[in-house]
Amino acid sequence: MLQETEKIGIKRIIIAIDGPAASGKSTTARRVAQRLGYTYIDTGAMYRSATLKALQTGVLEELRRSPELVSDMLQGITIHFDGDHVFLDGCDVTTDIRDNQISREVSFVSSLKPVRDKLKEMQQELGRKGSVVMDGRDIGTVVFPEAELKIFLVADARERAKRRYAELLANSSGSSALPNLDLLEEEIKQRDRDDEERKYAPLKKHPEAKEIDTSRLTIERQVEIVYNLALEISRE
Ligand code: C5P
Repeated sequence: MLQETEKIGIKRIIIAIDGPAASGKSTTARRVAQRLGYTYIDTGAMYRSATLKALQTGVLEELRRSPELVSDMLQGITIHFDGDHVFLDGCDVTTDIRDNQISREVSFVSSLKPVRDKLKEMQQELGRKGSVVMDGRDIGTVVFPEAELKIFLVADARERAKRRYAELLANSSGSSALPNLDLLEEEIKQRDRDDEERKYAPLKKHPEAKEIDTSRLTIERQVEIVYNLALEISRE
C-alpha cells in the first residue's frame, strides 16, 4: 500500500522533535513517522542504552570520579533499532532501558562529551538520507540544525508525571513498587534542570522551532498538528 506521502509526491524531509521529559515526543514522533512512511528514531533510547551499558559494566560510579573513562566504555558499542525494539550490543534492551534507575542516571551519562559525540555521529548517519522523524533534546539545535521542520513540545510538569506513571504502570511486572506521583514529578523536573544546564548540547528550543504545549491536547490532535506542518513544509 502506498504511504500518504507517495500518493501526493511530496519531498522527503527531516523532522526534529525536541522537548523536556514526557512531553509527548516519542508517541507523536512515532505516529507522525508511521503516517508519512518515515523512519522514527528515538535518540533518548540511545542515551538510555549507553546508561544501561555503564550500569551493566559496573563503571557508572567510577565515571562520576573519572569521566574520561567513558571513552573505554564506548569502544565498540553498537545501538540499533528494529521496528519498536532497541538493541544494545546485539541484545534487545527495549524494556530494560525504561527502568526508573536508568531515568535517574541518564542525564549524567548524557552530559559527557564523548557520549554526545559518539551518539550524534550515529544519529547523523541514521538520518542522513532524510525521511526521518527524530526526537530528543538537541536534534533541532545540534544534530540536524538544517532539519526542515523543527518542533519543540512542552507540557505541565504534573501532567508529564502522570504520563510517566501510566507508562511505568503499563510496563511493570507487578513485582516492583511504583514511585508516587510527587516523586516522579520531582525527578522529571530535576532531569529537565540537568538537561537544560549541562555544558554540551543542552535542552533548548531552536529559534525557528514551533512550540506546541501538549498539556491539554489529545495524542491524536498533537499528531495532526505536526503531520499537517510536515505536509505544508514538504510541499513548499
Ligand atoms: O527522551 P527520554 O526521556 O527517553 O531521554 C532520556 C534522557 O536522554 C534525557 O533526559 C536526556 O538526558 C538524554 N537525551 C539527550 N539528548 C537527546 C535525547 C535524550 O541528552 N537527544
